[in-house]
Amino acid sequence: MKVKMNSSKIFLILDALEAIYHNETRPPELGHDEPLDGLILTILSQNTNDNNRDSAFNKLKSLYPEWRDVAEAGVKELENTVRTAGLAHTKAGRIINILKIIHEDFGEYSLKKLATERPEIVREYLRALPGVGAKTVACVMLFDMKMPAFPVDTHVTRVSKRVGVAPSSTSPEDISQLYESVVPVSRCLGGHVNIIAHGRAVCHAKNPDCKHCVLAQDCDFLNS
Ligand code: SF4
Repeated sequence: MKVKMNSSKIFLILDALEAIYHNETRPPELGHDEPLDGLILTILSQNTNDNNRDSAFNKLKSLYPEWRDVAEAGVKELENTVRTAGLAHTKAGRIINILKIIHEDFGEYSLKKLATERPEIVREYLRALPGVGAKTVACVMLFDMKMPAFPVDTHVTRVSKRVGVAPSSTSPEDISQLYESVVPVSRCLGGHVNIIAHGRAVCHAKNPDCKHCVLAQDCDFLNS
C-alpha cells in the first residue's frame, strides 16, 4: 500500500456510526454455514442489486439442491437459471469453473476445509479463483468464515474518501487493506455494515445530506 492514508479518521467514522446505527451483530441474511454458498452468492451479487442477487441465488438453490448438481448442469443451463443477476453467461461460467476447481482441490463441493486454514492462506486461495476479486474474498472471509476482513464496496469507498481516510485516487483494495491493518477483528463486521448504512441513508453518491451527518465536523468533503 503506497498511497498516504489517514487511519485516525477510520476510528472517527467507526465510533460515530456505531453510536447511531449500533450495528455490531451479524445480519441474518449474510453468512452461511457452508462458505461455498456465500462465495456463489457474492459472485452473483457482482454488478447488480441485492434483490436480483437473491432472486438468482434462491432459484439456483431450489433447482439444484447440491452444488454437484450445479456443476453437472453446464454453463448454458445455469445461465438461464441465474439470468436475473445479470451478466449471466459470465457468472455461470465462473461458477462452473470455481466448482470444478474446488472439487479437485478438496474432493468435495465445500469450502469448510479451507475455513480451518489461517486467514492468509484462505485469502490467497480465494483470490486465485477465476473472477474472484478482493471484495468477494473479504465478504466470504468476514461473513461466512468469521475471519478478519473488511470488504470495501461503493458505499465504503465513497464515505472513506469523502471523510479523508484516503485520497480520491485510492483503489477499494487499498482502502480495504488499510481498514484491515488498523480495525480490531471485533469491529470489522459492524464497521462495514454501518458505513454502508450511512452511505445509503446520508452520504448519498449525489447530494449527500451533510447538514444531518454526524461526520460533518471531521469530513474533508466539507472542510477542505
Ligand atoms: S459530511 Fe457529507 S460528504 Fe461528509 S460523510 Fe457526511 S454526508 Fe458524506
